[in-house]
Amino acid sequence: MTNERIRHDKSSRGIKKALETMAGNRPELEILVDAFGPLLIAKAAFKEDHPLPETLKADDFPFDLNRFAQGESLFTTIGLMDFHGDFNVAAECLLPPMKTAFKGIEQDLERIEQGFSAAALDTRECIQAFVDDQQAVLKKQAGQTGASFEVFKFVMGQLTRPFMEMQAEVFAPLTQGLQWLHGYCPVCGSPAAIAGLSGEGGKRWLQCSVCDHEWRFNRHTCPGCNDNDHTRHEYFFDQNSPVKAGERVDVCHNCNTYLLTIDLRQRIDPVNMQVASLGMVPLDILARGKGFTPLALTPWNSL
Ligand SMILES: [Zn+2]
Ligand SMILES: [Zn+2]
Repeated sequence: MTNERIRHDKSSRGIKKALETMAGNRPELEILVDAFGPLLIAKAAFKEDHPLPETLKADDFPFDLNRFAQGESLFTTIGLMDFHGDFNVAAECLLPPMKTAFKGIEQDLERIEQGFSAAALDTRECIQAFVDDQQAVLKKQAGQTGASFEVFKFVMGQLTRPFMEMQAEVFAPLTQGLQWLHGYCPVCGSPAAIAGLSGEGGKRWLQCSVCDHEWRFNRHTCPGCNDNDHTRHEYFFDQNSPVKAGERVDVCHNCNTYLLTIDLRQRIDPVNMQVASLGMVPLDILARGKGFTPLALTPWNSL
């Protein structure tokens, strides 16, 4: 039996190799690889260096099957683990590569970095305010660093990611074998960044833009609006892509969103979906040029 799930390589070494291969195959993407590659590698390396305790098991958490069946994500019903202890280290590891990636907001990033290193920020309060979306508290914290509120919020999103990803891995077994028919993530409730077609007949898996969890979703339904009228769905290829039909962008004329899709049936080696989506920026540009908006924002598709 073929394994239908996406075979990932999420290691920092694997990501580095995938980025090098991509820059080698497509010199026009080298600029993107140089800008965002260090951030992807740093995030993976941080997770490798600060793993959650191995003794932590999904069964240790109170799982509410009823609320899950009603479409409530696990992070909503179970909550987040306390990760404020490692948060300053995450800031130390991720803010330098963020300055490489986001040149336009470098000064604000610098201010936030100083805020963290001078221990001027109450990390526990920062995380709580971000998770609960308490705008006034976030504004106050941003003000303490001198950075703009928008940049501060964006940074919080980037810094919480590795923790969300690690917690999603712990929670993933809870969702196994359960039906989830929604276009948003069963673990954290966020939209997908990319889809993969895998296994016999090309089953579609959506990969979360926030926690990296993947879940099965009907191939002919739009994850943005649940529309399944195929006359309103269309897809485009990137003619310059070396894998041609292996990568495409699916668009929905009902809700005007798009989603990148990668056909993994041709791939022999495990893939890193975040690196793959970075390499599909030409398809982002194509879809945006036609008036569609991404289902989820990624660091590179919001340029
Ligand atoms: Zn998620
Ligand atoms: Zn739609």
